Amino acid sequence: MKITSIKCRMLAGTLEKPIQFGIGAFPTFSATLVEITTDDGITGVGECIVRKAPQVTKTVVEQMLAPVITGRDPHDAEALWDEMFQLLRGWGHYRGFVFEAVSGIDTALWDILGKAAGLPVYKVLGGAGRDRVPCYASSLYFADLPEMVAQAQEQIRAGHTAIKMKIGRSAQLGGRRMDVACVKAIRNAVGPDVDIMLDVNSAYDAATAIKVCRQLEADDITWIEEPVPPDDLDGYERVRKGQHIPVAAGESEFGVFGFRELITRNAIDILQPDVARVGGFTGARRVGALVHAHNLRYAPHTGFSAGISHLASLHVAASVPNLMTYEYFFAPNPLRDLFAEPFPQPDNGVIPVPQRPGLGLELDQRIIRKFELT
Ligand SMILES: [Mg+2]
Repeated sequence: MKITSIKCRMLAGTLEKPIQFGIGAFPTFSATLVEITTDDGITGVGECIVRKAPQVTKTVVEQMLAPVITGRDPHDAEALWDEMFQLLRGWGHYRGFVFEAVSGIDTALWDILGKAAGLPVYKVLGGAGRDRVPCYASSLYFADLPEMVAQAQEQIRAGHTAIKMKIGRSAQLGGRRMDVACVKAIRNAVGPDVDIMLDVNSAYDAATAIKVCRQLEADDITWIEEPVPPDDLDGYERVRKGQHIPVAAGESEFGVFGFRELITRNAIDILQPDVARVGGFTGARRVGALVHAHNLRYAPHTGFSAGISHLASLHVAASVPNLMTYEYFFAPNPLRDLFAEPFPQPDNGVIPVPQRPGLGLELDQRIIRKFELT
């Protein structure tokens, strides 16, 4: 089997009301989709994470990485990954957009391998014996206190057993005191049997994160996510050692080398790689080995990414060791449902993994065209 073509499509979808969270407002969801076709007519699809300007990863995929993999066999996915990484590593590009471009390509390659084998991707990766995975409801965004409580109760009524909420408010929105008041009100409203995760989106410094966590230590919090900016490794170390709530991070991290640093500093309990950033399935799987070796927990990130990434993460969750939980995104996301059939629905805290070959759901081209940038 040989790769014959690599094509990118750029998507963007804007919400009527932007989402508000720790790093500001988020109005427009974007993604770069990568479609790879082989000489025996199989097409695989992957996604590069995009927060601004999908043109960047499209250019990296088409101009820099496509020449590396054209004519090659997708069954050599691990070697192709290393060759793509090596292309620019020595030139200083060992994180960032190059990694995100590799992620889209690698995801598409494994989709091809699944389709060629007639198996879902998670089984081609070496399935972990799960055809459904535990999940949590993500996320409650900033609103006033009664509305956040009402949203939490709505998610419990919908059958979720775990909920993530955003904290990290600016001073204008009430700051850390409002954060603490919201968490306590929601714990009170949902009772003791619901898992509550907190996501700061890097809005605190270490001292604030430690102070807030200590005020919430009696509230049985499952994790505190991205308490400080991703580059502040000293801050992560301080937060982990300075309070008792487990620390989660990783949606902003690239590959095994980024996670290695957080692990060797004992700065993290739960790793949250995003398949569309960490290096696709190959990157996500390599991080899985690190998680396993250090007896940590794995909780794949989805969030503002488009549906291919959400779907691919579900296969990651079904294949990695030490899985903790999958992020099921219920908040508005115009690019989540891009398929000819509904995205898998969670029930009572678990979500099924599609069983058809490859990623298991086909893109609906009418929906894609609706969001496609030209
Ligand atoms: Mg997050």
